[in-house]
Amino acid sequence: MACISSALVVGGSIAGMNAAIALARQGVRVDLVELAEQPLGASLAFSGRAAETLVELGIYDEVHATGTPFGPDSTAVSIHDSTGRLISAGPKRPTWPGAVDAIAVYRPVFLDVAEAAAKRLGVRVRKGVTYETIDNGADAVAVTFTDGETGSYDLLVAADGIGSRTRGLIFPDAPKPKFGGQLSIRWMAPGPAIEGEGWYVSPVGRLGFYYLPQGMVYVPSVIDMPEWRWLSDEDVRSIFVELLDSMTAPPVAELRSRFDANAQLIGRPFDWILLPDPWFSGRVVLIGDAAHATSAHMGMGGGMALEDAVVLGQSIADAATLPEALAAFMGRRFERVKLVVETSVRLGRLEQEKAPPSENAALLTRAFAALGEPY
Ligand SMILES: Cc1cc2nc3c(=O)[nH]c(=O)nc-3n(C[C@H](O)[C@H](O)[C@H](O)COP(=O)(O)OP(=O)(O)OC[C@H]3O[C@@H](n4cnc5c(N)ncnc54)[C@H](O)[C@@H]3O)c2cc1C
Repeated sequence: MACISSALVVGGSIAGMNAAIALARQGVRVDLVELAEQPLGASLAFSGRAAETLVELGIYDEVHATGTPFGPDSTAVSIHDSTGRLISAGPKRPTWPGAVDAIAVYRPVFLDVAEAAAKRLGVRVRKGVTYETIDNGADAVAVTFTDGETGSYDLLVAADGIGSRTRGLIFPDAPKPKFGGQLSIRWMAPGPAIEGEGWYVSPVGRLGFYYLPQGMVYVPSVIDMPEWRWLSDEDVRSIFVELLDSMTAPPVAELRSRFDANAQLIGRPFDWILLPDPWFSGRVVLIGDAAHATSAHMGMGGGMALEDAVVLGQSIADAATLPEALAAFMGRRFERVKLVVETSVRLGRLEQEKAPPSENAALLTRAFAALGEPY
């Protein structure tokens, strides 16, 4: 039996919606508030143990049916030069008997699946709502909300992302996110699949792509940006066009032919943060990017958010008291997440230093092997 009976989850994205599922599956009454009315974003890939969390959450088959599965022993994406010549096949991800397929999924579709599952378990979801005040008391967390409601909960789970307001309230001395020296630009290109999936590198940056069954090609890219600077939509667009134009590889030429004035780009600097252990104080715990965010070099930030959600549910189910549960949660999460944050930051630095791809591959292979261990 769970050691708490009620929880408020703040933030309804990868970490929050799935923490709501994990807690509700343990019999906890869960309310969730999410500021955004509609989920936004591009694609995410869940691989290794992160893909297994979807089984535990009871949504693997549905996510599999809406996404692009990759075999569990598929190579990490291959790397080509700007003309399309293969430079490196990429490191193999670890696998184990019974491992499930990795899945790439369109984020809004994934969040719809997770929200429907949460609601089936009785989670009360309010969109366009957040908290106004939190009183992290000894016996309960008392909360006032922006829609005028009030509530009292045994636990508050803050899953409000890298810019977490809750982190600032609960840990005023917490480190601030740091800039990793690179910019990510993502584009959902319309149209059918393109042969030659993988990464393509030029002196301007790198760009990869894969197909999603919603009839679009997901195109992430990474560009060095030594100093942080604010970028307008026009700036993002011209950087992305420069990247496309720097490559002659046939798949990139095909992407270039699909790029027009309607293309919507998501430009975002790679920021990172690792909140020191513990991520909880009293009855408030931070999970996902609110506690640990990193660049996409391992493609594991969302996977770590999913693992946080599942391990939190297990810890609440297994422990006799909330303090014991939160201590057990930290014991299982900190070193694993630290590995992902530090490796991703290091991979970004190696890339900026123009280190040989073999050095990145060796680092990635070691980190993937460690993450192959159960969470
Ligand atoms: C370019 C790029 C590519 C990536 N690719 C991958 C990948 O392939 N695989 C992978 O696993 N990870 C990937 N990641 C990382 C992944 O996107 C994040 O780790 C993941 O989104 C973290 O989920 P989260 O729920 O913790 O935070 P977020 O997704 O940031 O969600 C936070 C939520 O909280 C809400 N919110 C914020 N403040 C409040 C408030 N006060 N009240 C209520 N709600 C609030 C927001 O609206 C939002 O919905 C990528 C990241 C980037 C930048």
